[in-house]
Amino acid sequence: MSRPPDPITYRITPADPHAHLFTVTLTVAHPDPAGQRLALPAWIPGSYLIRDFARHLVSIRAEAGGRRLRLERIDKHTWQAAPTTGPLQVHCTVYAWDLSVRTAHLDATHGFYNASSLCLRVIGQESHRCTVLLEPPPGSVARDWRVATTLPEAGAPRHGFGRYEAPDYDALIDHPVEMGTFASVRFEAAGAEHEVAVTGRVDADLDRLARDLAPVCAAQAALFEPQTRRAPFGRYLFLLTAVDDGYGGLEHRSSTALLCGRNDLPRPGLGAPDDGYRGLLGLASHEYFHAWHVKRIKPAAFVPYDLGRENFTRLLWIFEGFTSYYDDLMLVRAGVIGEADYLKGLGRTLSGVLRGPGRRVQSLADSSFDAWTKYYRPDENTPNAVVSYYAKGALVALALDLSIRARTRGRASLDDAMRLMWQRHGRDFLAPDGSAGPRPSGLPEDGFPALLEEATGVPMRPALARWVDGTEELPLARLLAPFGIGLATAPTDRTPSLGARLATRGADLCVATAYSGGAAQRSGLSAGDVLVACDGLRVDERSLKTLLTRRRPGDPVTVHAFRRDVLMRFELVLDEPARTEATLAPLTRDNALRRGWLGPTARALAGAGARS
Ligand code: ZN
Repeated sequence: MSRPPDPITYRITPADPHAHLFTVTLTVAHPDPAGQRLALPAWIPGSYLIRDFARHLVSIRAEAGGRRLRLERIDKHTWQAAPTTGPLQVHCTVYAWDLSVRTAHLDATHGFYNASSLCLRVIGQESHRCTVLLEPPPGSVARDWRVATTLPEAGAPRHGFGRYEAPDYDALIDHPVEMGTFASVRFEAAGAEHEVAVTGRVDADLDRLARDLAPVCAAQAALFEPQTRRAPFGRYLFLLTAVDDGYGGLEHRSSTALLCGRNDLPRPGLGAPDDGYRGLLGLASHEYFHAWHVKRIKPAAFVPYDLGRENFTRLLWIFEGFTSYYDDLMLVRAGVIGEADYLKGLGRTLSGVLRGPGRRVQSLADSSFDAWTKYYRPDENTPNAVVSYYAKGALVALALDLSIRARTRGRASLDDAMRLMWQRHGRDFLAPDGSAGPRPSGLPEDGFPALLEEATGVPMRPALARWVDGTEELPLARLLAPFGIGLATAPTDRTPSLGARLATRGADLCVATAYSGGAAQRSGLSAGDVLVACDGLRVDERSLKTLLTRRRPGDPVTVHAFRRDVLMRFELVLDEPARTEATLAPLTRDNALRRGWLGPTARALAGAGARS
């Protein structure tokens, strides 16, 4: 019998909260005798941008047998230790002052980290078990600090500092850790224990949050596993940081890190969800859905992740777009929001997509592939050149779901494709201990059309070619009609348009984007120009709008603007009103197809009972 390989040990200490420094001591029992290589990831799965976490490493040194060992720098995030046979220790100090869900943050109020920011990967030993020794900060700063993570305890008490473990490096960096004086609430759903840990000053009804999240979690488990209705994990953690103004989330296999505005949390006594709370529920639902769809069902391009460089896939429209479709759909199926609210949200998504000329030049497949350099690196031309694989991907999911339901009279739906993807590519992806499972295979780049047809019996290949590989507009009005839902698009107001998005920066009114072919662009007015006058009158945001309400589309206007401090004059011919709003509204009181999609039938399948 062979001995299991010695675990890799990471001692993690929030050593200097005021300087925002974590220290990490890594011990490798059996380093590569030719010289152990160590690396920090260039990106964190779920956020498709090269972030080069090594840039926050303040110091690094290695030792073996009590003696300093030479560390050679190989590239921007890789080191190689001098050859040694004994246990290798590497000491790192890491700066942690980014309050986002992607990196690490530490001060005297709390600590948060993703191990991808703190823990070096031991190259060649990625499959070894990892032990994490989590230490409290020194001194009296943190006498009442607790720990929230779903990293399995290996001696540490629940919510305590101490020993935790991960089955391998991939799991280690997929379990974010929060430490501090967070408030928490627990609930059971889908056969698993759930917890919400809230960091930040909040005045919120956390029991309400738990009451609303429980049926959403149950509905998602029921979608993927209609027989058992069980989630593929025993514990799940929502790590929520509430700030003045913020919104974002990052998915993990049994947890999620979320950032929200503190006023998005439900206030005590709140009735029906307001917009902020509905947004928060949608965000939590989105990240939870990812526990199946992208953390277990993955694009083949992510199996395994290459943490040193971009991992290109043309399928993010499936993994992010479908997740964006199901996030709100799960709220209505769980009975947490009503049909009218759901349709209002769909209208907002559609309005957003229709506003961007980029939908006419970039396909969803290209948007997915170029996420690293385009969607995640927006600039002034992004609205003209990029379509969101989240928003348009959600609309394609809607178009597919409606098409399949109508063609099969409600007998099949996109849910069937999700279940088949789950059975074939997701269910066995992780072993019970959370390590890479026995059959790790992802969805092939060209695998979806055949899978969709197999699951539903509806051939959608030609439509997918037009909607995903091409840039054709989605025929949503036609697809919604059999569900008794009307789709109308109309301008939000009658004000003629400059064909530009404006932004106030300090005291300046600037052109943020000159839309493709719009009045501003035709006249030469460009992003960054500072508008000072329109038809000889000084303007700010409000007065310009007032002035334009007295003009009509086709009217000429003269705009004065500074470019690089030089005053320039532009002759514009005003466009039609720019902002169109899409609204979806039921045309009939009752409709069998709609009932199966959003109504009582859908809610019963989700196990949401009689709540409305
Ligand atoms: Zn997502």
